[in-house]
Amino acid sequence: MPEFVSSRKFAAGEKIFSIGDRGQHAYFIESGEVEVLIPKNGDTIVIAELGIGEIFGEMSMIDDAPRSATVTAKTDTEVIEIQRSRFIQPLKSKDPMMDLLLRVVLSRFRDAQRQMSGIKAQPDDMDASLEEIRALAIERIQEERDLRRGMDANEFEMHYQPIVTLEDGHIAGFEALMRWKKQDGYVSPVDFIPLAEATGMIVELGRLALETGLRDHKVFINGFKQAFPDLAVPFMSVNVSGLQLSSLDEIDLLAGLIKDSGLDPATVKLEITESLMMEDPEHAAKALKKLKALGILLAIDDFGTGYSSLSYLHQFPLDTLKIDRSFVINMDKSESSNRIVRSIAQLALALEMDIIAEGIEEKNQMDDLRELGCQYGQGFHMAKPLPAGNVVELIESGPSW
Ligand code: C2E
Ligand code: CA
Ligand code: CA
Repeated sequence: MPEFVSSRKFAAGEKIFSIGDRGQHAYFIESGEVEVLIPKNGDTIVIAELGIGEIFGEMSMIDDAPRSATVTAKTDTEVIEIQRSRFIQPLKSKDPMMDLLLRVVLSRFRDAQRQMSGIKAQPDDMDASLEEIRALAIERIQEERDLRRGMDANEFEMHYQPIVTLEDGHIAGFEALMRWKKQDGYVSPVDFIPLAEATGMIVELGRLALETGLRDHKVFINGFKQAFPDLAVPFMSVNVSGLQLSSLDEIDLLAGLIKDSGLDPATVKLEITESLMMEDPEHAAKALKKLKALGILLAIDDFGTGYSSLSYLHQFPLDTLKIDRSFVINMDKSESSNRIVRSIAQLALALEMDIIAEGIEEKNQMDDLRELGCQYGQGFHMAKPLPAGNVVELIESGPSW
């Protein structure tokens, strides 16, 4: 872990940074006072005095341009020094639009500052990086527009992957997985879900996933009852993103879709990722309780990839734990993956949860997972996610794995 934040002391009169320096830190004043100075008509003038709780040196954080003022300690001063990367990394990983906005605001501000002090505007490093960001943002705007167009044109559909019992291989349920059908083929959700999440469009897409999933679920149940009258009807599992659960109103709306479907709620499952639950465990607990009250099933998805705290895990009303594919892939290569899978299976048992292993690509993985105590599995070895029509055929023809 790099040290992003550290504490520093300056004696009265000591310079913290000078005009023209490369700015690699912003500062937060813990105690004392500082003066901000700029040159004017051959003199140096004080343009600001800052005290406890104030921040300075932040401008160079965004654009990496040289310091536009000098700052000295007026009294003995203690500051918290915050590294540039502490600001830049979250900014870049979150949203290029936000990055663009900040940079444009800053460049306008600097232009105004230059004009006021009579310095002619000149193209500098800043303009080059701004162009790069601008290009990125334009690309992003086009992607967003395309996503919106795809939604309006009903280009999103659901595919379904069977989840089977490892004991005898019969179908226990399906996971609904979204696909974007474009002219030149299907786009994978890994390529559009992150954008849909960043723009909030996932809320609308998520409703669509649930609505479509429930509709197709009815058809699958009917087909299944005919083919396997003695087996329990399969469940339908739908992925839900954090943004959908962040509003209690949206939860009510999703609950309404489930109620109005007329389906037995005990055959409807929602998958929520581990990371989502751990980001805000208190809110997650509230949201999950609200959903659980409908009588539906809840699954924790991608288990093992985040950093679940066991103390929280048992507070969530979860029915199913899905072991991430990465453990299954490594099972025959590493003894430790085997041990992890076995421990997770034991943990699930102790918490009275079902366990589904994801990403089974080979027969021997299916056998190993059964030995390790997993009840259910899902993966290309059994079937890839299929369009609804093919699922009905699959149910009729019965398992071949
Ligand atoms: P996920 O929820 O972990 O879904 C399982 C992913 O593993 C699916 O990828 C599935 O096709 C893939 N998979 C299943 N078995 C195997 C296997 O044996 N080998 C390999 N290599 N892969 C396997 P997919 O469909 O591309 O979906 C990717 C992710 O996109 C999903 O991961 C989920 O996080 C997200 N996603 C998909 N549909 C939705 C949706 O309707 N709403 C939300 N919020 N997210 C969705
Ligand atoms: Ca999932
Ligand atoms: Ca998963």
